[in-house]
Amino acid sequence: MAEYKPPYSRREAVIEANRCLFCFDAPCISACPTGIDVPAFIGKIAHRNPIAAARTILRANILGSSCAQACPTDVLCEGACVVLSREGDPVKIGRLQRFATDAAYESGAEVLPQPREKTGRRIVVIGSGPAGLGCASELAILGHEVTILEKQDQPGGLNTYGIAYYKMKPSVSLKEIRLIESLGVEIQCGVEVGRDISTDKMMRDYNAVFIGIGLGNCPPMRVPGEELPEVIDALDFIAQIHTTPLHKVPVGNEVAVIGGGNTAIDAITQAKRLGAARATIIYRRDAESMPAYNFEYELAKMDRGDFLFNTVVKTVKSDSSGHVSGLILMKSETDPQGRISTIEGSEFEFPCDMVLKAIGSEKRVELLRTLFPSIEINSGGSVACDAESGQASLAKVFSGGDCANGGREVVNAVAEGKRAAFGIHAFLTGEQIEPPMQPSRYGVAGTPNGSGFHEPVRVAER
Ligand code: SF4
Repeated sequence: MAEYKPPYSRREAVIEANRCLFCFDAPCISACPTGIDVPAFIGKIAHRNPIAAARTILRANILGSSCAQACPTDVLCEGACVVLSREGDPVKIGRLQRFATDAAYESGAEVLPQPREKTGRRIVVIGSGPAGLGCASELAILGHEVTILEKQDQPGGLNTYGIAYYKMKPSVSLKEIRLIESLGVEIQCGVEVGRDISTDKMMRDYNAVFIGIGLGNCPPMRVPGEELPEVIDALDFIAQIHTTPLHKVPVGNEVAVIGGGNTAIDAITQAKRLGAARATIIYRRDAESMPAYNFEYELAKMDRGDFLFNTVVKTVKSDSSGHVSGLILMKSETDPQGRISTIEGSEFEFPCDMVLKAIGSEKRVELLRTLFPSIEINSGGSVACDAESGQASLAKVFSGGDCANGGREVVNAVAEGKRAAFGIHAFLTGEQIEPPMQPSRYGVAGTPNGSGFHEPVRVAER
């Protein structure tokens, strides 16, 4: 399955790196939640030293390889690039980052610092998704003993199971995990907290606990026919692509994708690339209101996905043998307060044989309440934790990633995992570690020309 951002050759990378202006107070750094020193690593590529570039990247973001491929660089670092405002085309930071990290993984060179001397402190991380991995790797470098508990068969969470194949292959995620294990982090798969180990035991046996359990399943649509076998969670569909030979992944001939976020876009493009004759996004609001990034929307259009806006599902229809045969849809309208109502008499039938639900992910309130009955959960259903340290309301419990932020990008989860690692380290040893670069330090706001961008200064001109 073709990648939509294929890797650069060495020559292409050097040419692209030389488009960078190596800005002072570069806005691309502050646009990256993990604060990767973008001009520094691009400069190393320009000087034909991709391994050194990878060291810069991976020291700031241990998942720098997957973030280069799976993160919306177009709206993060590249969206802030000065060259975008000057030439209409930013420096391709994501592809350069991928070039450097690919080179490092291929070479097998040492890319991470040696962990500090052992502290004798033990930390357990629940969940091996991006937040857990970001936290665990940083703690290991600081000399702590870290065990990650993962209930799935393979580690990596969303990065291994939930990213569309055309953006990133699961092997990228698994490669990063081997790197993290090389720091001495132990990952136990197939272990479910509450079933295989009790919270009490965990709290007794470890000096600190990090909760990085992400989000749950797609919520129900609450329409008749939802229980039919061809109505599935879009994330489960994507996970199948990662765990089953592609030619064996079941895909309908006419696929309806319900929702308008990035998962819906991943689902429709994957369905098309797996051979669906027609795949249609059905979204209850208009195109401008779609939560999906614009470039993702454009990508789905390029893959010849169809779109039905201002439309809601009333019923999933079945044929006589109990399989999906179509949907009953209704047109909808949105009032100035954002409330959606259906238009009377607008019902129509829509033929399809598979329905992929991409209407969000449920918060894990019930699981949190079961595992940590007295933990504070905010009104949005996320773990309430300190913005600086990631510390939750219980002693020695920290959190980060989707279960604490409600659901953001992979790179946000890594940054929050790192933040919590520094919080845990300070809690256990009293030593304060400089936190990851914050936007205020490299602030876009308050720039001298008021444009949000500093005038770029070439390194040679400083
Ligand atoms: Fe970052 Fe400036 Fe280079 Fe763009 S031109 S990548 S903003 S340093």
